Amino acid sequence: MSVSSISRNLANIRHHINQVADQAGRLADEITLVAVSKRRTLDEVKLAIEAGQKDFGENTIQDALTKIPELEATGSRWHFIGHLQSKKAKLIPGNFHWIHSVDSLKLAQKISHAMEDSSVDRPLNCLIQVNVAAEASKFGLNRDEVVPFIERLLSLELRGLRWRGLMTIGVQGDDKQTRAAFIGLRHLLEQCQHEYALTDFNQLSMGMSNDYSIAIEEGATMIRVGTAIFGQRQA
Ligand SMILES: *Cc1c(COP(=O)(O)O)cnc(C)c1O
Repeated sequence: MSVSSISRNLANIRHHINQVADQAGRLADEITLVAVSKRRTLDEVKLAIEAGQKDFGENTIQDALTKIPELEATGSRWHFIGHLQSKKAKLIPGNFHWIHSVDSLKLAQKISHAMEDSSVDRPLNCLIQVNVAAEASKFGLNRDEVVPFIERLLSLELRGLRWRGLMTIGVQGDDKQTRAAFIGLRHLLEQCQHEYALTDFNQLSMGMSNDYSIAIEEGATMIRVGTAIFGQRQA
């Protein structure tokens, strides 16, 4: 993609976020745009940074590590959004500020140990991935597993982690089911907030290129957008 198209796409998306938020009676400031740079080159990410983009999402450690160390001086914030095998947890501290895809106690424990072993002081912001639409192809906890999961997490008192909210993926090509999933995630967050005194457990990561408007209407605080910024990914 050319310089102008990445910065133009970002400007269009920011404009659109403002419009949708406004119509929904929300503040655009409460919505973080995470630019999903998976399978994109370092140069493409640099162009997005030059256009003012701060938050980036990656779904594999391998791909992320070709970029993150190179861009340390830019002050970018990195979000891990893919399925993480617990043996790779040690690569999270120092590289990522957020993980959106915690889906097992084992993974949470491994990341916590990795944080303790590292020299990183700031806690890692963690979201629990929920498979709200209950699709067999997706990772994440089932809806009814979330409350017991949090109960266990709180009893373990894992160090180095800050539990910030929930994440989900919509149903591709089905706006109605996608909206239902996003509403379901919001209700689940509200339920967790009622049942547990978790400070700052207030983030909803939902919405991608094709459904981020619906997500904003339904309360998303983080949207994860790749294609609409960088163009179609190569297979
Ligand atoms: C790839 C990916 C996105 C971005 O998808 P686009 O359709 O390119 O916007 C968002 N979230 C997750 C978890 C992804 O893997």
